[in-house]
Amino acid sequence: MPGSRTAGKSAAKLTRQRRWQLKMASLRRCQICGKPTNHYKTYCDEHAMWKRKLRRRASNSKPWKPGAKGRPPLL
Ligand SMILES: [Zn+2]
Repeated sequence: MPGSRTAGKSAAKLTRQRRWQLKMASLRRCQICGKPTNHYKTYCDEHAMWKRKLRRRASNSKPWKPGAKGRPPLL
């Protein structure tokens, strides 16, 4: 939902980058490269996998495996 995290902030206070991200989210396009999204909401498939890799590294987690907790990745 674009705007939910920015409730109460005026558009002028958002950075140019954040405004671009919100615009791309409303158009259902990747917030990094602007390509149409496919399996995921905010990123194209390529950047969804890139972002997952970053999060996995930041949280020191191994890749998801069948039988592990959580929803399996769509890709
Ligand atoms: Zn992308």
